[in-house]
Amino acid sequence: MRHASEAELPEHSAVIAGRKVPTARWIDVVDPATARPFARVARCGPAEVRAAVEAARHTYETTWRFTSPVERSAVCHRIAGGLRARRQELARLETLDTGKPLGQSLADAGIAARYFEFYANALEALGGETIQQRPDRLAFTLREPYGVCGHIIPWNYPLQIAARTLAPALAAGNCCVLKPAEDAPLTSLRLAGIAEEAGLPAGALNVVPGYGDEAGAALAAHPDVDRLAFTGSREAGEAVMTAAARNIVPVTLELGGKSPHLVFPDYDAASAVPQIVESITEHAGQNCSAGSRLLVHRSVHDELVAALAERFRSLRLGPGLDDPDMGPLISAKQRDRVLGYLSEVSDSSIEVRAGGGVPGGEAFADGFYVEPTLLDRVTPEHRVFNEEIFGPVLCVSVFDSMDEAVALAEHTTYGLAAGIWTRDVTAAHWLAQRLRVGQVFVNNYSAAGGVELPFGGYRRSGVGVEKGLEALREYTRCKTVAIHARLPS
Ligand code: NAD
Repeated sequence: MRHASEAELPEHSAVIAGRKVPTARWIDVVDPATARPFARVARCGPAEVRAAVEAARHTYETTWRFTSPVERSAVCHRIAGGLRARRQELARLETLDTGKPLGQSLADAGIAARYFEFYANALEALGGETIQQRPDRLAFTLREPYGVCGHIIPWNYPLQIAARTLAPALAAGNCCVLKPAEDAPLTSLRLAGIAEEAGLPAGALNVVPGYGDEAGAALAAHPDVDRLAFTGSREAGEAVMTAAARNIVPVTLELGGKSPHLVFPDYDAASAVPQIVESITEHAGQNCSAGSRLLVHRSVHDELVAALAERFRSLRLGPGLDDPDMGPLISAKQRDRVLGYLSEVSDSSIEVRAGGGVPGGEAFADGFYVEPTLLDRVTPEHRVFNEEIFGPVLCVSVFDSMDEAVALAEHTTYGLAAGIWTRDVTAAHWLAQRLRVGQVFVNNYSAAGGVELPFGGYRRSGVGVEKGLEALREYTRCKTVAIHARLPS
């Protein structure tokens, strides 16, 4: 088979002030199912980032901050419509770029549309409060946009996360500069085009693809950015937060996780199997809130692990465009990272109950595949118990009491999500309050994405909240106005 030569690959430029910006520097965009480049994307640096921030500032000061909520709502509704109308095209692009199954990419495109729709509806109800401080003084608060917001996002759910972070920012009246991940930048650029067609003014959304230590670092450090939102690894999050501290600007950090399921003996464990498996195999486990640990009561351990192992072994792997149960990982680097963790397991007391390596066969020879892997008898002494693997690896540990379950759940430094499986409503209430995590799911996991549900990590999983009404407030700041009234003498 003949492959496109470098010169023939479609090129995707940065979008600044509504224009595609010419560039001489490119990054190959690789299809994770074949390891072959299928496009090239601009490699932006500090100069492009400066131009993007200037464009965002100009549009903010001349146009967007003076629009009414009704006008902004109409634009956001039209962006949602544009995303829905191009759902198939966006899904195909997302799957080529990330390797995820087509059905998941279609769902992601629908969720992206929902973010714009949700904030289009919500923004009209945004307002401050009046404060009756004393008879001769009327005070009230305004919710004002920050101005220019910088958004840095990862490669795992590019379209969904771009919409999650941009929709509330734009709806609140901010102008944005988005730095997508170097490994999966294409749907972010497409989103900018769709937003412009929907009537978003040029410069309100600028997209500067490139590497983290070039474009990302330049955006995080830019002195004219008023607010930052970062989604990604803890290490890069620290760098972004340090840059934000130097400019004294607020920053949202949505970082990693090592989220546990807690399965109690009163629950029909077999009925939880499909959701437990989905929570660690969706997008091959490359999901910040993946349910990557299973803490199970000793009395139901054997039955549950046997059912999980059977399900893991039955999953169909393949290229994302064939819409399998699980596609490849994003890159060779990510696959090797996961295999590095698995290589430690053979010398330990951990039992491999399913998977454990690279799938055999010609079909998987080129792509970045790892088998769905079930590790049993994992304890806090093992590295895989504590660290985010970011692959399709579920670690099973046993507990004998609720206190022990909580201690195991909290042993890691993360605190993103937890799934509790019990019919005991008092136990569920207590655990929901007790666990230091940002989202608790009882007898379900992840509430189908839940655009309406605020999402943010506790502890090293992050700072601040995205999604839901909370995010709209996070992208505005509070100004107080106090007006003196002359009382009749
Ligand atoms: P990453 O931190 O390597 O990259 C994320 C983004 O940051 C990319 O755009 C990258 O180019 C940029 N970046 C890297 N170094 C930077 C720097 N020094 N300054 C500024 N920008 C920089 O993360 P990743 O590998 O793309 O994504 C995986 C991680 O993201 C996992 O830890 C996962 O849990 C986390 N994640 C969290 C959420 C959430 O909502 N909590 C969602 C998705 C992914």
